[in-house]
Parts: sequence; structure tokens; C-alpha cells
Amino acid sequence: MKNSLSTYLSYYKNEKKNVGLSLLLTLVQTFALLPIALIIQHVFNYALPHGDSRALALGLCTVLVLFIANSLASLANRHVTLSAIKSTIARIREELVSHSMFSSRAFYASEDLDTIHSRIVQDTERLDNMASSLLTQLIPGTLVGLGLACILIYLNPILFLILALTLPLLYGMGKLLGVRVKRRIKVFHDDFSKFSKGVLFVLKFNELITLSTAEEAELAKQNLLIGNLRSSSQATAWLSTAYSTIQGNILTVGGVIVLLVGGLQVIHHVSSVGSLISFYIALNLLSSSVQMVICSIPVIIEGRESLAILTPLFNDASSRKGEKKPFAGLHEGISFKGVSFDYGTSFSLRDVTLAIDKHEIVGLFGASGSGKSTLINLLLGFYQPTHGTIAIDREPLRDFDLTEYRRRIGVLPQEPLIFPGTIRENLAYGLANASDQEIKDMCRQCNIHDFIEHLPHGYDSDIGNRGVKISGGQKQRIAIARALLRKPDLIILDEPDNNLDEALTLDIIENIKRLGTTMIVISHNRRLIPHLDKALVIRDGTVYNETTL
Ligand code: ADP
Ligand code: MG
Repeated sequence: MKNSLSTYLSYYKNEKKNVGLSLLLTLVQTFALLPIALIIQHVFNYALPHGDSRALALGLCTVLVLFIANSLASLANRHVTLSAIKSTIARIREELVSHSMFSSRAFYASEDLDTIHSRIVQDTERLDNMASSLLTQLIPGTLVGLGLACILIYLNPILFLILALTLPLLYGMGKLLGVRVKRRIKVFHDDFSKFSKGVLFVLKFNELITLSTAEEAELAKQNLLIGNLRSSSQATAWLSTAYSTIQGNILTVGGVIVLLVGGLQVIHHVSSVGSLISFYIALNLLSSSVQMVICSIPVIIEGRESLAILTPLFNDASSRKGEKKPFAGLHEGISFKGVSFDYGTSFSLRDVTLAIDKHEIVGLFGASGSGKSTLINLLLGFYQPTHGTIAIDREPLRDFDLTEYRRRIGVLPQEPLIFPGTIRENLAYGLANASDQEIKDMCRQCNIHDFIEHLPHGYDSDIGNRGVKISGGQKQRIAIARALLRKPDLIILDEPDNNLDEALTLDIIENIKRLGTTMIVISHNRRLIPHLDKALVIRDGTVYNETTL
């Protein structure tokens, strides 16, 4: 927790001025309130008994001015803290979004996307609330409370001592309920993220649910999650309310005891009515400060939970840009020397050695699950080998700036990534300068231009979630065109023939050959071999040359 707290506080580095100003304004708030009880005492002990209406009016006017000064300082404080908190939370959000872009594959493999999403969206909101409560409730409430306690001691030490007897009770209650609130909040967070995941599942896998006629079962599952969320959110809200109500009542009991003992003091002429009334007014001001502090506690507990949850995200930046060599393009070729790798599961790549020369067209064959995609992930720098070296132009891949390196590689992943948007946006993603002509030429090479031209809106047709439905093969060709548009030094096609017939696949391979781009094509179809310069086979986690088998 300490580590996460210091990480969080470091985000306030740029806000030192505002935080300092906020603390200063808190002091102004405190000092504006403190004299009020003393002035009231003066009014009751002097102005009233002496019939001094001028002193009465002056006293009450001063009280009014002090109250106004207090609220103005509090308003200004709110303005300053809002600016500090909102800019800080915006910075944290920017950082988290950027971290999630640069996080390693290993990190993504160990976390689920919906959880990361809910952290970035919801937990940052809770951090925001925590900071607000801290700066506008806990700190001012505590400072004002301490100041008022001093005034109370000055006004009537015996009464204050009696009042202080309720403190252990307040503390004990706070401790006991604080632990329970914390536990409840954790359950509530878990239930909330399960509910959020459930809704995403229904949205994402709508088709699967319908095809499997699993509507009723799915609904029952979702209703269970909704029910759990209902009870935990009700219990959390209830506990928070009960917590502040009980604490408030303890304060009221304290007030009644003060009136009783103070009243007895007045009856026995130990103290004056003025002292009792001013003590009581100061006590009420103290109660509001204490209530302010109490109300902030559940929010702060919640924020600290979120902070602990967010810390791993702050810390995972394993593949962020560092001091790496710039990548100037592929000149000679790629080599794997004695490369081994495992995911920590039973599968492993062992002692993989291979060479791919520039301009070569290489096929990679192997049964499903033999490690073809894993090999490509290593080549793309998504994972690091446990042994051996991957070299690009004889230099270790790990020394290169991976973003620059990947910019020179076109990849068709096994599942083509098409996002909701127009066909043009999908084709030119990441390429700000691709011209219309280039896009169309590339689509011709990939045998998809005619199809796109015949759509009602051509290249501006919407595809993806809410746009026109396109087939797997059409997606595949759009994704190949996108990969080629960046004029890569190396193109990797991971099972293009999943959705394309043999003739179309061969056509595309021949077109890429003409472009002179180095290519790795993963396939099950051995009939591609005559069209390749080299064929590699993965078997039992090791790579062999087809000819040596
Ligand atoms: P192929 O592409 O040849 O079908 P993959 O390289 O995708 O095979 O997978 C090889 C093996 O590694 C499989 O047994 C698969 O279950 C496992 N695997 C793939 N990705 C991961 C991962 N992120 N974490 C753990 N195991 C994985
Ligand atoms: Mg694969």
C-alpha cells in the first residue's frame, strides 16, 4: 500500500502550488471559525448583562463576517482543489491508457480485458472521489476540529474532559465499522466487476447465445449476478449510513451530557449561561467537522482499495520505449539461434534455429497447436525467448526499438482484426499518409477492390459491429491489404487460407512475390510449397527444414 500511495502522490508533483494554496485556505477556514465561540461568550457574558446593544450588534456582525469569510475560503478551496484533483486524475487516466497500449503480451495473458477496462474506468473515478474527500473533507475537518477542541478546552476544561470520554467510544466504533465497511466495499467491487463482465459477455457473444439456444440459462446466470450486486450494493450503502448515523448519535449524546453537566454548573454558579451557550455552539461546529471527517472515511477506504488495484497497471510497462537502437529496415535477414520459449504451461519451443534471407518467401507448416503463432509472436517481440537469440541483420532483436521495428512489418493475424468503422479507416489504420490511389491499388493486388467498389458507399461503407456484414475471406483480404499498405520489409500471413480458397491465396502470394517483400506464410496446405523459396516445419516444439524431413 505504501508503494502504491507514493506512486499516487507522485502524480501530484505538478500540483504543488495548488495543494499548498488549498492547505493555506484550509487554515483561513479554520481561523475564521475559531473566534466565533469566544465572541458569543462575550455577547452573553458582557453585552447582554450590561444592556450594551452596540456590543451585541458588533459581536453578531463579526460572527456573520467570520461565517462569510469561512464559506468564501471554503469555496476558493474547492475551486483550487478541483483544479488540482481533476488535472491529476486526467494525467493518471492518460498514463493508464498509454500503459495499456505499451503493456506486454505476458501482462495481457495474465489479466482479463474486462477487468483492466473496469479498473481504468471505475477505479480512477474512485481515486478521484478519494482525493476530493481527502482535500475538502478529511483535512479541513481535522484541522477545524483540532482548533475547535482547543477553544473548547479554553472555554470549559471540565466539560471538555467529560466530552473527551466519548472519544474512545467514537474511535472504537470507527475502527470496528471501518473494517466491516472495507470488507463490504471489496465484495461490492467484485460483484460490480462480475456484473460488468456479464453484460459485456451478453453483448459480445449474443450470436453464440442465440445459436446455442442458451438464452434462459444465460439470463439466469446474469440475474444471479445482478441479484448479488443488488444485495452487496444495498449492504454497502446501508453500512455507510449506519456508520455515520451511529457516530452522529454518539456526538449528540456527548452534546446532551454537556448540557446536563454545564446546566448543573450554571445552577451551582460555577459557570455562566454565556459560557455554556458558547461551549455548546463550539461543540456544534466541532460536530459538523467530525461528521465531515466521518463521511469522508468510506470514500477514502474505497479509493485506497482502488489504488491497490491500480498499482500493477502503473508498474507494468515492460515493453515501453527505452533507450533502444533505432530500426532502419531489414537489410540481410532474420535468424533464430537455439531459441527456446515456454508460456509456463506444458507447451514449449525448444532449440529453434532457422534463417530467413531478405526477399525470401518462406512457408511455416505444422499441426494446430504446434507453436507457429508463438514463433511469430517471438519474432514480433511480444515475448522474449528464455534461451537463444533472435537476430535481425545479425543484431539481437531485443536491442531494437520495438515500435519502430514493428512499423516495418506487416502482419495478418490468424483472426483478422477489423474494427467498427469504414473500410477506408480499416485499411489506412496507423497510416496517416496513405493516398486513395495507393489504397485502391493495394486492394486490387489483394483481389478485394471490385467487391468494395460495388458496395453502396464503396470505400466509405461502414463495416464491423453495426455496418455491412462482410465474410471472413473479405475481412482477410482487407487485413492483408492493410498490412501491405505500410510497404513492410517483412510480411507475415498467419493462416491466410483459413478463409480463402487455394487459388485466391496463391494469387495473393504471387502478387506479394512481385512486390519483392520478404514473407513468412503460415499454412496447413502443403500444395503451397512449390510457390515458396523455403518450407519450414514445426514439430514437437522444434523447427525443421521441409527437405530434411
Ligand atoms: P499454432 O499457431 O501452431 O496453432 P500456437 O503457437 O498458437 O499454435 O500455440 C502453441 C501452444 O501454446 C498451444 O498449446 C497453446 O495452447 C499454447 N499457447 C498459445 N498462446 C498461449 C498463451 N498466451 N499462454 C499460454 N499458452 C499459450
Ligand atoms: Mg496459430
